[in-house]
Parts: sequence; C-alpha cells; structure tokens
Amino acid sequence: MQALSKELKDKIIKALEARQAKLPCPRCGHQSFIILDGFFNPTLQTEGEVQVRAGPSVPTVVVICKQCGFISQHALGVLGLLGQEEIPSPGQKIPS
Ligand SMILES: [Zn+2]
Repeated sequence: MQALSKELKDKIIKALEARQAKLPCPRCGHQSFIILDGFFNPTLQTEGEVQVRAGPSVPTVVVICKQCGFISQHALGVLGLLGQEEIPSPGQKIPS
C-alpha cells in the first residue's frame, strides 16, 4: 500500500512547481526526481544536550535525485499542504 496517493503526490509536485522549485539536482545536475512514499517528521531539539523525543516537529516531503540519490526536503507547512485530512499531523503515525 502506498503511504502517499498519486493525487497527493501530484498536489505536492504542483505546490513545488508553483514555488519555482524546479531546478536540477544541486549535486549532479540530473533533472529527474522521486518523491519518497512517506514524510519525514524530524523533531526539534529544544533542550540543549537532553534528547527530545516527542517535541514539536517539522513534517517534510522528501525528494530524491534519481541519479545520485541526493535528498532534499520541503516543509509541508510552507507548501500549504498541512492540515489536510490525508496528511498526518505532527506526532501522528503515518499509516503503513
Ligand atoms: Zn543528483
């Protein structure tokens, strides 16, 4: 089962293109990318040296260069894609 539907991936692509995020890979110049089938949701470390496991986080869409594997991330909130039913909110488990 796909974590991200084709419709959602199309919406992500449109959001990236609308923000002019369509340059080639910054590492190898390749022009073809994969959208990872799930989001990253890194947790902010706000307590100095103490590890925070359930703090605020930044849900991101993950884009991978098909040629060299370079990984880039885009914040879903900035893309206007947070708060939609099909996108897990921070701290919510992504269905598998
Ligand atoms: Zn590349």
